[in-house]
Order: sequence, then C-alpha cells, then structure tokens
Amino acid sequence: MSCCGSLWPGATRIGERSKMREERTDVLVVGAGPVGLMTALLLAEAGIEVRIIDREERTTARSYACALHPRTLELLAQLGMADEIIRHGNRVETVGFYEGSTRRAEIALSKLPTEFPFLLILPQSRFESALEQRLRQKAGIQVDWRHRFDALEIEDGEVAAAVEKLGGTSTGYIVPHWETVVQDRFRMRARYLVGADGAKSLVRQRLGIENTRVGGPDFFAAYEFESDTPSPNEVRVVMDQATTNVLWPLSNQKYRWTFQLVKSEVANEWPEKERRAVRVAHSTVDDAIRRYVDRVAKQRAPWFQAGVKEVTWCTDVVFEHRLANEFGRGRCVLMGDAAHQTGPVGAQSMNVGFQEARELSGIVKSLLVENANPELLDDFRKRWHQEWQLLLGMGGGLASAVAAGNWSAERRSRLLSCLPSFGDHLGALARQLGLAFSPAREGKATPK
Ligand SMILES: Cc1cc2nc3c(=O)[nH]c(=O)nc-3n(C[C@H](O)[C@H](O)[C@H](O)COP(=O)(O)OP(=O)(O)OC[C@H]3O[C@@H](n4cnc5c(N)ncnc54)[C@H](O)[C@@H]3O)c2cc1C
Repeated sequence: MSCCGSLWPGATRIGERSKMREERTDVLVVGAGPVGLMTALLLAEAGIEVRIIDREERTTARSYACALHPRTLELLAQLGMADEIIRHGNRVETVGFYEGSTRRAEIALSKLPTEFPFLLILPQSRFESALEQRLRQKAGIQVDWRHRFDALEIEDGEVAAAVEKLGGTSTGYIVPHWETVVQDRFRMRARYLVGADGAKSLVRQRLGIENTRVGGPDFFAAYEFESDTPSPNEVRVVMDQATTNVLWPLSNQKYRWTFQLVKSEVANEWPEKERRAVRVAHSTVDDAIRRYVDRVAKQRAPWFQAGVKEVTWCTDVVFEHRLANEFGRGRCVLMGDAAHQTGPVGAQSMNVGFQEARELSGIVKSLLVENANPELLDDFRKRWHQEWQLLLGMGGGLASAVAAGNWSAERRSRLLSCLPSFGDHLGALARQLGLAFSPAREGKATPK
C-alpha cells in the first residue's frame, strides 16, 4: 500500500504524485557547501548512489572558514587528497593569544598526536572547488546547481523531496533586472536525505526542528589584504574586555583581520555566501577601508606593524551560537551549519561537520548494504548533538585546572570556540592553556 503523507509540523505537501516527474537515488544531499560536498564524496567513495543539489550556480568565491583542522587533514589523507590540498595552503603550527601588546598564551598544534600536527590555512572557496572537482572526476558525480529543495514528505518509508530547477529571466526595460524563475518542479525520492543546507536550513524548518540560540549574536567584520610584510607563521587571537579579533596568515604577504565589532558598529543579518569572483573596486572607498583596517589593527594589536596595502575583500558577518534541538528525524539528518553554528575563530562548525559526514557515510553504508539496525541513525544524531552541547559550553565546556587569576582561566568560556579542534584534540590543546575540556569528554576520541 502506498502511504503518502507528511510526518512533521513544518512539512508541506509536495504536490500530487501522479502529476510530477519523479527521479530517485539512495541519498539526496541538500546543499553543496563544504559539508554537503564532503558528505556526497564520502558516500560516493563508499559505493552509495548519491545526488547533491544546490540552489546556487557554483561554489563560493571567498575564504569564510579558512582553516582545516588536523582531523580534517587525516580525513583528506584517507581520500588521497591531503598532499594536493596541503600544497595549496599555509601550514601553521601555533595559535598565539594576545591582550593588546602582551602575548598571554599559546597553543602548539605541533604537539598533537597526529600525522598532520598543524592547521592548514586555505580559503573555503578553494577547498569547495577541490571537493567538487574530486566528486566530478573520481566519483563521476556532478552537483545539480540551480536546484532548490522546497519540501519533503515520507512516502512508502522513504523520503520524497520536492526539488525546483531554477533558471533566470531578464525583466525591466530601462534598468534590466535578473529574476529567478522555477523552470521545473519534480519529486526526488531517496532512502535517506541529508540537510547540509546551511545556517538558515529549509530542511531543518520543514522537519519542524527548532534552532535554539545559546550565545551571541556577535558582530564581526572581516578584511583580506595584501601587505608589504611577510605574515607570521601562526594565527593570532587578540582579546580585550569586549572583543575577540583574529589575524589569519593567508599566504606569504596576504592576511585576513577579523575584528569583532562593538555595539555601535553593527552589521546586518547573516549574509549569503559571495559567488562573484571579481570584486568591483571603488578607489576612494577602498582607501578609507584600508586606513580603517590599519588604524583598528594597530589599536587592538600594537605589535601589528605590517603595512596594509590593497584590501581585496571585506564583509560584515553576524555569528550566533545555535544548536538544532535534534539533528534530524526519521530518514533525514542535519549536518554542518544546518545543525550548529558557533564563532569564527576555531572554524569548528565546518571542520566538525566533516567528521559528522565521515561517520554518517559509514552508517548509511551499513544501513543500505548490510541491513544494519536503523537505530544506528538515532544514536548518531544523539551523540553528535551531545558533542555540540559540549562545544557550545552547555553543561560542560572548559574548566579551569589552574589557580584563579590565570589569564586563560578567566577567559575560558570565550576560548572554547577559539580552539581549532574538538574531542580529544580539543582536550589536549586546552591542557596547554591550563584548562580541562568538559571532564565528561576527556580521554574520549571522536564519537563513533
Ligand atoms: C561572510 C562569512 C564569513 C565567515 N567566516 C568564517 C570564519 O572566519 N570562520 C568559520 O569557522 N566560519 C566562517 N563562516 C562560516 C562558514 O562559512 C560555515 O561554517 C561553513 O560554510 C558551513 O558549511 P556548510 O556546508 O555546513 O554550510 P554552507 O556553506 O552554508 O552551505 C550550505 C549550502 O546549501 C545551499 N542551500 C541552502 N538552501 C538550499 C535549498 N533550499 N536548496 C538547495 N540548496 C540550498 C546553499 O546555497 C549553500 O551552498 C563564515 C561565513 C560567512 C558567510
């Protein structure tokens, strides 16, 4: 018997079955950001039939989360991609913590027990392109760009998603205007659906899952610029009473400053990822921006003496700390920013998202190929939800292992999202600061 209906409060009916074209696959991944691309790649490598859709027309064009953790590099090594990726990035072994001109603390990734004891600084755009290329060339899978997920239902125990194929049309006479139009709407049936569709996840909304705010909003502005001075071979975090700022060495003479903004300098809501590779330059504005970066950097980090030459990119961005109340339901799973969001310094949301993808691909393989117990998926969702509760400092976080009055101990709640790691690596880095990561979590490796 055919059972057709929606299970969840946010679910909408997707249209009469007999009237819509239907395609099918084993796993539908919604969202071709870094986490969705990694998920699709790992599933394809495991021999699973997968489709991946994204409403945009290409990968992003900017840096965004620009650091890959050692655990991510280990994963890339398993995929045979580590050497190539490492060649294109900047290896950084330490993170220095400053308060004004004083160096207060540092963590050495070089002391981690891993084959890749460093952070790799690499623009997110470059990494997304490498994943997309690998997916196409080795696994023979093309991202279905300009395909938008719209709704889902459970049908015969599987997931049916309504997908819209988008196109564009030019309207307006004096001022031409490009409008997105839906060219086709069809059903995509899948045995499992992965929502890797970012912070505003429609999959999460259709599943009726709340995304609870647990911290923030924190307002930041990021500036990438060329300099006349070689960058230090480390990431530098500058904390004062009100702000956390980061200097990323992007390459030899290229930096990114991410400044936390104080109340009066507030940005708008979370911007969409920038897809244009070319930036339109306005020389007077550029010069004002360049002088602003130079002034704020030297105020907050007096040790920063490099000249700010051309500013190649800048943006405002709001970071909230949020956690989805569940990481999916039934045959649907949420991952990456769709399930969790945190601050920018530790690049945790994207990198931990890759570990979620790694584990999920193994589980889906055992469900599809070995007929494993479906409860595996519930366990997966619960464990990663718990892991994120700890990463967001809910019922755990960083505890002080040293005397009160210590710089790190006093800033431990702010330091948690600044450590570029999770799980046992996060515990090891926290110990270097005289802190302990969530006693309940200490000694445990990645959730399995
Ligand atoms: C301006 C900016 C600066 C940032 N800086 C940092 C930083 O310094 N450090 C840091 O750690 N993180 C930073 N981030 C966040 C980082 O980019 C995210 O953590 C990362 O992109 C998460 O990857 P994801 O794959 O989970 O989601 P996303 O990268 O958001 O990808 C989601 C994808 O889903 C697609 N999508 C959405 N809805 C639909 C739909 N209905 N149908 C089909 N496709 C859909 C989107 O087009 C997108 O491609 C920044 C983000 C921005 C925007």
